[in-house]
Amino acid sequence: MTRRVALLGKPLRRRHSQVMHDAAFDACGIDARYVLMELEPDEVEAAVDAARGTGWLGLGVTAPYKRVVGGLVDEVERDADRIGAVNNVVRRDDGTLLGFNSDAPGFQAGVEATMGRPLAGARIVVAGAGGAAHAVVYACRLAGAASVTVGNRTVASAEALARRFAAVAGASGTIEGVALGGPAFLTALETADLAVNATTVGMVDPGMTIDVDLLPRDATVFDLVYVPVETPLLRAARARGLRASNGSEMLVNQAAIAFERWTGVAEMAAVMRAAVAPLLADATVTA
Ligand code: NAP
Repeated sequence: MTRRVALLGKPLRRRHSQVMHDAAFDACGIDARYVLMELEPDEVEAAVDAARGTGWLGLGVTAPYKRVVGGLVDEVERDADRIGAVNNVVRRDDGTLLGFNSDAPGFQAGVEATMGRPLAGARIVVAGAGGAAHAVVYACRLAGAASVTVGNRTVASAEALARRFAAVAGASGTIEGVALGGPAFLTALETADLAVNATTVGMVDPGMTIDVDLLPRDATVFDLVYVPVETPLLRAARARGLRASNGSEMLVNQAAIAFERWTGVAEMAAVMRAAVAPLLADATVTA
C-alpha cells in the first residue's frame, strides 16, 4: 500500500514541499507520496481524523491552519505549543497524532550554516511578528542569543511576541519588541550579528525592511522569503559584501527534519535541495 503525507492549507500555490518529499521517498525506496489537500476550514477536522489510519505517515500543515490543527491532534510537542504553530504532524504506531514544529530548528540549521557560527551569543534583529517570526524568535531565544530585537509594522504585535518569549526556559539574553524602522530598531541594526526578514516584504510587497548600510561589515542577512530567489534586501546585502541567504535553506532543513520524523530516515537535506533547485530557480513561480 502506498502510504501518504498530506499538506493541509488554503490556498496551496506552491509545490516545493511535494517535490522535496517525493524525491526523498524515492531516494530511500519508501512507497509513499506527499499530496496537496487544499481544504475549506470546515473540512480540516475530518482530514486530521483520517490521518489516524494505517495508510498515513503524517501531515504537513500550512497557512491558515497551523494553529487550528494543534487543537485537533492528540498531543502537541512543547516547542510547537510555545511557538503557537503546528506545521507538521506525525502518526505514531498506535494511530495517535503528534503535532510538532520544524520551522524553528529548520531556521536554526539554515541560518547557522549561512553565518558560519552558532546563534548562541549573537545579537539579532528580526523584522516581522507573524507566524514565521514566532518560530525564528523562539529558535534564537532557545539557542541562547545575546539579544533579540523584534521590529514590526504593527508595534503591538512585536511587543506581544517579545512578552511571549521573554521567559523561554534557559534563555538568558534580552528581548524587546519595537517599531519596524523606528529609532530602537535602527540602533539595534548598528551592532547586529544577524538581521532576519520574517515579513512578506520582498515577496508580495516591494521594498526592504532592513537598512543594510547600518549593519556591521561582518553581519549576516537572512531573508525568509525564497520566491523570488533574490529579494531587493539580499541584493543590497550582497552589494555591501555581507553574508546573505534567502529562506530556501530553512525550507529544505525543516522538510528534512519532518521527513525523519515520518520515516526514521535522516540526512535527506541534500536530496531535497537538489530536487527543489529547479523550482527555486524558476522565475515563473511567483508569490
Ligand atoms: P504572516 O503571519 O502573515 O506575517 C506577515 C508579517 O509581515 C507581519 O509581521 C506583517 O506585519 C509583515 N508585513 C506584511 N506586509 C508588510 C509591509 N508592507 N511592511 C512591513 N511589514 C509587513 O506571514 P508568515 O507566515 O509569518 O510569513 C512571513 C514570510 O516568511 C513569508 O514571506 C513566508 O513565505 C516566509 N516563510 C518562509 C519559510 C521558509 O521555510 N523559508 C517558512 C515560513 C515562512 P503586520 O503585523 O504589521 O501586518
